[in-house]
Amino acid sequence: MDESIPKIYVQIAVALPVSGTFTYTVTGDLADKACVGKRVLVSFSGRNVTGYILRIIQHENRKGLKNIINIIDPYPFFPPNMVEFFEWLSNYYLYPVGLVIKGALPTGLNVNIPAGTEMPHKGWLDRVGLLKKVFITVKKGTAIDRSLFDPKRSPKNEGEFLKMIIKKKEVSLQDIKKTFTNGGYLVDKWVKKGFLKRSLRQVARDIEGENIFISPNPPPLNSKQKEVLEKISGKLKEKCFFTYLLHGVTGSGKTEVYYKAVKVATELGRQSIIMVPEIALTVSMASLFKARFRDRVAVLHSALSPGERYDQWIRITKGEADVVIGARSALFAPLSRLGLIIIDEEHDSSYKQEEKLRYQARDAATVRAKLSKALVILGSGTPSIQSYQNAVIGKYGLLTMSERILKREPPDITVIDMTSFEGSPAVQDDSIISPPLRQAIKENLAKGKQTILFLNRRGFSSLYLCRFCGEAIRCPNCEVSLTYHKQGNSLLCHYCGFRIQPPDRCPLCNRENLKAYGFGTERVVDKLMEVFPEARVERMDRDTMRYKGKVQQVLRRLENCETDILVGTQMVTKGHDFPNVTLVGVISADLSLNNPDFRAGEITFQLLSQVAGRTGRGNVPGRVIIQTFNPSHYAIIAARDHDYKKYFSQETGLRRQLNYPPFSSIANLRLLGNSRTKTEKIAQQMRIKIGNILIKQSKGKKDIEVLGPVETPVAKLKGKYRQQILIKSRSPRYLNQLLKKVENISAQILSSSGVRLIMDVDPYQMM
Ligand SMILES: [Zn+2]
Ligand SMILES: [Zn+2]
Repeated sequence: MDESIPKIYVQIAVALPVSGTFTYTVTGDLADKACVGKRVLVSFSGRNVTGYILRIIQHENRKGLKNIINIIDPYPFFPPNMVEFFEWLSNYYLYPVGLVIKGALPTGLNVNIPAGTEMPHKGWLDRVGLLKKVFITVKKGTAIDRSLFDPKRSPKNEGEFLKMIIKKKEVSLQDIKKTFTNGGYLVDKWVKKGFLKRSLRQVARDIEGENIFISPNPPPLNSKQKEVLEKISGKLKEKCFFTYLLHGVTGSGKTEVYYKAVKVATELGRQSIIMVPEIALTVSMASLFKARFRDRVAVLHSALSPGERYDQWIRITKGEADVVIGARSALFAPLSRLGLIIIDEEHDSSYKQEEKLRYQARDAATVRAKLSKALVILGSGTPSIQSYQNAVIGKYGLLTMSERILKREPPDITVIDMTSFEGSPAVQDDSIISPPLRQAIKENLAKGKQTILFLNRRGFSSLYLCRFCGEAIRCPNCEVSLTYHKQGNSLLCHYCGFRIQPPDRCPLCNRENLKAYGFGTERVVDKLMEVFPEARVERMDRDTMRYKGKVQQVLRRLENCETDILVGTQMVTKGHDFPNVTLVGVISADLSLNNPDFRAGEITFQLLSQVAGRTGRGNVPGRVIIQTFNPSHYAIIAARDHDYKKYFSQETGLRRQLNYPPFSSIANLRLLGNSRTKTEKIAQQMRIKIGNILIKQSKGKKDIEVLGPVETPVAKLKGKYRQQILIKSRSPRYLNQLLKKVENISAQILSSSGVRLIMDVDPYQMM
């Protein structure tokens, strides 16, 4: 057959920062192997690059199209029904579709292929592909038994060795070597004799984490759970796209509802995705599902090694999983029969990716579900303003579970006004742990109960200041002051990781007057050990949780009552039931409240409600003490009163007034450059151009508001000066159209300026 005659055409996205897709021809044998979801090697602008087949085209009138060079994969990496989803992400978040796919696929697949080579270099599959192991089997057609060896002349364990192989028929070389120190020798000997055979076989890596909190037998549902499940089952059976917001207070039994919903979907022949906000939480969620669904569970998150992630991915593409559990990236699980997406703690900001493709996994999940005619369940005890508003206007169905299981009482919350301790003789002490909180901890310790203290700032102090001239020691790369860490005696930048020894003298006035001010979790622990020397205190934050499995260890000690007081950052607010924890203290509710971010109130309300939910999970009602300098703030009062609706109405009132989401769509255009003046200048030019675009635009310009440019609250980060322009629009469509025009003109404005533009659609990070 003539190789030059094209058989078919393929639409390709290349893994490069270029927009659009490209058509190539496929000839000869390759045409039979081509299918959507496989990677190909193509020549593009004089380079050989990886591309992804998005569509197969039978007829094409264009002439002069290039041939693809090769097809890389034996099987596709994503099903055809995901192509439209990738295209939506690319269009909405203004990110090249090839890079959207590259980011979605398991890392390690995207190795750079040197120009001129037709296939990835040797060893590539060994590093990231399926793991291969050597197995030892009895050669076919041979009869092997123990009479073949002479016990007098053989090693003592040879009999045992043969017995094991005859019995198990197939044993990995690794296991043989583990059992017999001379295993390698014995295998060699019997292979040479022609009785045993070595073979290389693919195996899936074992990604079992430490399994904790497993309950293999589902407890019976209460009437409220049953009612909610009935509605979910009904919608699942319709096989149409729909979104439910499940507003269930902490401890109302949402996880069991999730389990039953997945079970119903599975019985209908459809697959499910469950997303949780943190990798640590996937472990307990996956344990629960593995205990009940066994090997029909796959796990996807970024902490898996490239090989582990690859294995899971291939299992999913082969249809070997009914449910995929993971953090944000589980959104891309290549399921072809997707019927249900569950997003637990849907309000959590970790669903927003803050680099490359800046997607919001919760929002994108509803789009993927729509394209697959699937059901979405957004679960939360403190729903995001956006999702609750969608329920209010009828876009989502609202399901409510307002009672804790076994009718446990919600915790009693006290707000402590910290201004009342200002100026007291013990002010330094009282500013960390106020007398009422100290008293409560003392009583709790005396009763043998446990306490969790929450402070969303790690380190020992927040500032290292010269008492003479007021100069704070700052990070040279970022415009922020360094945090003092007692452990390791260093000053650390929490943005870029810059670390130095604390200087003896002030860099400005050269006096020896430096002192640490403010406090973080490390200092709280110090204080506790001073006040309660007999208490067993542990700390859980990013500094102490660096190592794999550490979070589980700390939680297990808490569960086993080996810890009296746990001090931690946001990490302690999420997760599990600890019946013996009867007191929660919030050291400072003001940290999140004072952020220059329109979501500051929302985040504070969520944090306080979540952390309060960590107490009173057993038979004894819980108690919560919140320390704040803003005791009359609506978010704090609503959290104290467990009143979501009141909080929602106040928050939406403010948002409506200021035209912030959910009453508008916003995008943040961030300009980053090495020179402050240059970055500022480019930002101003950009603003003028946007103004010009709007003048020419006929529709929608009245609905668009442009703010800035201004320096971002952190004016310099990792060595880059930062300016931002905020665009608000009443219609997401007009915003998208405007951003595309901005993207088109940006190349010209930015060219050789050394300034980079980042477009963040629906931004969360406002710092
Ligand atoms: Zn000084
Ligand atoms: Zn820094």
